[in-house]
Amino acid sequence: MSDELEALRAEHAELVNLGLSLSMTRGQPSDEQFDLSNGLLDVLNSQDELVTPSGVALRNYPGGATGLPEARTLMASMLGVNADEVIVGNNASLMLMSQVLLCCQLRGTAAGDGPWMGQSPKIIVTVPGYDRHFTLLEGLGFEVVPVGIDSDGPDVGAIEKLVAGDPSIKGIYFVPVYSNPTGDSISDENVDRLVSVSAAAPDFTIFADNAYCAHHLDPEVRDEPKNLLRAAEAAGHPDRVVLFASTSKITFSGGGIGAAAASTANVAHFAAWLSMSTIGPNKLEQYRHVKFLDAYPGGLAGLMAEHAKIIAPKFAAVQAKLGERLGSDLATWTDPRGGYFVHMVTAKPVARRVVE
Ligand code: PLP
Repeated sequence: MSDELEALRAEHAELVNLGLSLSMTRGQPSDEQFDLSNGLLDVLNSQDELVTPSGVALRNYPGGATGLPEARTLMASMLGVNADEVIVGNNASLMLMSQVLLCCQLRGTAAGDGPWMGQSPKIIVTVPGYDRHFTLLEGLGFEVVPVGIDSDGPDVGAIEKLVAGDPSIKGIYFVPVYSNPTGDSISDENVDRLVSVSAAAPDFTIFADNAYCAHHLDPEVRDEPKNLLRAAEAAGHPDRVVLFASTSKITFSGGGIGAAAASTANVAHFAAWLSMSTIGPNKLEQYRHVKFLDAYPGGLAGLMAEHAKIIAPKFAAVQAKLGERLGSDLATWTDPRGGYFVHMVTAKPVARRVVE
């Protein structure tokens, strides 16, 4: 064994002997981050706040399936759309994604040609992608069609070819900003190409999971691609885009609010679907988020800047260590400007051993 290898083995053994129990779970904020939002816990405590400024009584049913007007305004500003283009739901976004996709299967979209079920529906997904997107799509009976993703977003050239001749390709599901897991964001050019694709399916839909749209590591250096909903409208396809987001990595994970945004026609269509399963979402949680985030110094952006102060040094440490220890001949990796992920590709097929 060479001296260098022996030294590495000794160093590895030393690390193993520390007996650390490290969570390798992806995408979870730290307690220090959650502490930033502890104010949420008692933000609603006064009798006179039980009816909101828009006149909705928080303790009673009425309000509708699209959510509290104040919460729609909050999530609209996060997603860069109008409040009447937003549905605000319960604790997080995955449930809304599943409801929208289920609605597409059983009823289609607002401007579509009926239920997708029975048309052998396929959805394009970027690879590598978010495991839950695959699980959800396959669970709901979609065939998943993989396409690549690069530093400027999905491979739109491949998408153009796929959708042109296959009417059973009903959509694409991807993360447009600081993607899970590559950290890549779509470019403006690819936004324009994607919303304009000539698709054989008349109801081809772009499901954009914008989970990290507010999650910049440096508040001054942001990936802020063109808004997909506005770009689709400008391209003559106003009903083509559905956006999703939540406060899961802003306040409490799975303990906040989720939102979907789409054309007002699709909002009405999906809200009618939701209304079968619920009289309305938890308005108390929605209003707590409105009050807390509106009062936070600098609002939502102010809170995200505090998150960045905690996360950015961790990203920097990862980059420094990877550069120091691996070098470009053993692996390459991304250096994202936001989100939660650094994606590493090893030169040799040793992914399982790397995780071990
Ligand atoms: N979408 C992406 C891309 C994610 O990475 C995650 C969580 O890691 C989620 C959605 C989950 O979102 P939510 O908590 O809003 O359901």
